Amino acid sequence: KQGLARNRSGWVEQVRRTVTGALRVRGRVDEELLAELEESLLEADVGLAAVEAVLEALRQQASAEGLRSPDQVLSALRALLAEELRRHQQSLATPPEAPGVILLLGVNGSGKTTTAAKLAAQLGGAGQVILGACDTFRAAAGEQLQVWGDRIGVPVIRQEAGSDPAAVAFDTVQAARARGARWAVLDTAGRLQTRSNLMSELAKIHRVVERALGRPADERLLVLDASVGQNGLSQARLFGESVPLTGLAVTKLDGTARGGIVLAITRELALPVKLIGVGEGVDDLQPFDAGTFVDALFG
Ligand code: GDP
Repeated sequence: KQGLARNRSGWVEQVRRTVTGALRVRGRVDEELLAELEESLLEADVGLAAVEAVLEALRQQASAEGLRSPDQVLSALRALLAEELRRHQQSLATPPEAPGVILLLGVNGSGKTTTAAKLAAQLGGAGQVILGACDTFRAAAGEQLQVWGDRIGVPVIRQEAGSDPAAVAFDTVQAARARGARWAVLDTAGRLQTRSNLMSELAKIHRVVERALGRPADERLLVLDASVGQNGLSQARLFGESVPLTGLAVTKLDGTARGGIVLAITRELALPVKLIGVGEGVDDLQPFDAGTFVDALFG
């Protein structure tokens, strides 16, 4: 089983060197050090708004408490990053009644299907969850979800390629209700080549689920590959225009991604990260925890 990548990109090493060098030469947290830190954090994908907020807090703390040693500065920085992440920490919604519905959105390859399967297994698997294969555009997508469903013993609602994805969503919600399942997890298409078709397709799925359920899907999560960096922000904005998002599932954090993207997104879109993917196996999905995440960043 894999875990959150521990500081694999080395940016924290760079921060450490920067802080140590600056304090040795100039003895305090000054504007030059803050500028160097800004550069390192931006390189780590943290995003300008979050970087500015965190460094402003560090500036104030340094002048109030006189942070002098590299360890003091680094632990202050670490605490500020964790605090920044905690502002948007939220666990998965508790649906008012069964079935709860989780709609997963995101571009192809981001990890939607895998995340759908991991979620289905973790939400109780057989008897508790129904999976819906709403990517009817790619036949392979439905087959891939079916393979997962067979493996974890969770039924998959599918229709033939080319059928209406919103109809699959509707059937999945109805099936979950009829079979007394607690959750319906919907996998959707993510072909960005036909962006406007995709966006109206997703908006329709959202509407149809709301009609079937009497409330909007309890979670509308954007699945985002952490290694896409700042492109994640534009993906989140794009998908958010057709379906109001409730949060993110950030995948592939076991890889070489710089992780800072999580801070950029939570700050700039005010969206919580609810889940993180840390591997390809069914157990490799974790609830997001700001403290653990920052610990892993700092190694
Ligand atoms: P989709 O096109 O959005 O449905 O993406 P898939 O679920 O098919 O995932 C694309 C690839 O990413 C697959 O090879 C998955 O095994 C892999 N993947 C998904 N999530 C993770 C993760 O958290 N870590 C790693 N290392 N690979 C992942």
